Amino acid sequence: MASSSAEMHETVAERLGSVGQRFTPKRREIVEILERAGRPLTIAAILEAGHSLAQSSVYRNLVVLEEAGAVHRVVTRDGVSRYEMTEDLMGHHHHLVCTRCGSVEDVPAGEGLENSMADAVAQIDRSTGFTTDHHRLDLVGLCRRCTRPC
Ligand SMILES: [Zn+2]
Ligand SMILES: [Zn+2]
Ligand SMILES: [Zn+2]
Repeated sequence: MASSSAEMHETVAERLGSVGQRFTPKRREIVEILERAGRPLTIAAILEAGHSLAQSSVYRNLVVLEEAGAVHRVVTRDGVSRYEMTEDLMGHHHHLVCTRCGSVEDVPAGEGLENSMADAVAQIDRSTGFTTDHHRLDLVGLCRRCTRPC
C-alpha cells in the first residue's frame, strides 16, 4: 500500500505510463476526488465533486485509469458502476451494499476478521486446489438511512 498521497500519485502516474497514458490534470482531479471520498463513487457523484469535469471525459478517464490498474470498478445489483482506487493503493477493506438505495460504503477490514478469513481461505484452497490471491467481502443488506422508520 502506498504510504502517502504523493506516493500514490507517483504510482498512478507509473501505471498510466505503462499503458502509454499520461497523468493529466483531469485524471489527477478524478484520483483526488476518489481518494477523498472514502467510498466508491458513481460518475454522477464524481461530477458533483469536480468543478471542471464533463461527464464524457470523466467516463473516458475512468476507463483509462481502470485499464492502468489504478481504479477499481464496483458493480452491484443496481447496475450502477461505482469507482474507487484499487486496494493496493488505498488499503484492503470491505463493502456495505444497500439493496434498497444502492449505496456502497467502505468498512475497514478488522484484524480478527482478516485472521479468520485467512484460516477459512487456507482450508478452501487445500480442499479445492485453488490458489487464492485476495478476497472481496460485501455485506449486503439495508443501510442505516433505509432501516430508519419513516
Ligand atoms: Zn440504503
Ligand atoms: Zn471500497
Ligand atoms: Zn478482508
